[in-house]
Amino acid sequence: MINLILFGPPGSGKGTQAARLVEKYKLMHVSTGDLFRYEMGNDTPLGLKAKEYISKGELVPDEVTVGMLSNKLDMYPEAKGFILDGFPRNVFQSEALDKLLSDKNSAVTQLIALDVEEEEIVQRILKRAETSGRKDDADEGIIRNRIEVYKNETAIVFDYYEKANKAKRISGMGSIDEITNRLFEEIDSIL
Ligand code: ADP
Repeated sequence: MINLILFGPPGSGKGTQAARLVEKYKLMHVSTGDLFRYEMGNDTPLGLKAKEYISKGELVPDEVTVGMLSNKLDMYPEAKGFILDGFPRNVFQSEALDKLLSDKNSAVTQLIALDVEEEEIVQRILKRAETSGRKDDADEGIIRNRIEVYKNETAIVFDYYEKANKAKRISGMGSIDEITNRLFEEIDSIL
């Protein structure tokens, strides 16, 4: 299996780029943010739980998130591999992911981080709010909190995979096409 983690702060373009990578490499895209939004849209118990945290820009508790991700991976036993977007978001989730994949005789192939300047991120998210309908995108206070959570809990996930020689950083600045091309180059070099 080829399992890629598309990593980076909120608004760094993970969802946009993941859609393009999926097409080229025929991997399954799994976005925990999208999964939560689907559950919230259907007012499921999981969605209602997630909403308590997402509306404040906080992380949804690990047991909820890891359980949901595990179910999703199990739904595609024939997959060639996964592109994970929005997961793992802390070290506990990284360890949980390694365990889930090793149970499938697999592992994380590579984490690729998109580097984007903080002010650019805030502007992108506010712009996305105009069309996304996401309440967590429309409020600058919530956005700033998401960025704080990223710095305090998520950024360290890069170091976790770097220790295993599996982490790479590329610039997430510039046009969408430019960034896609950087990703293609990076992924082609590891496959
Ligand atoms: P972003 O643009 O902030 O990266 P996402 O769509 O990936 O947005 O996630 C939206 C929200 O869903 C996050 O702010 C967080 O509250 C919740 N969430 C997504 N993934 C996770 C995760 N792995 N662990 C905990 N909470 C998560």
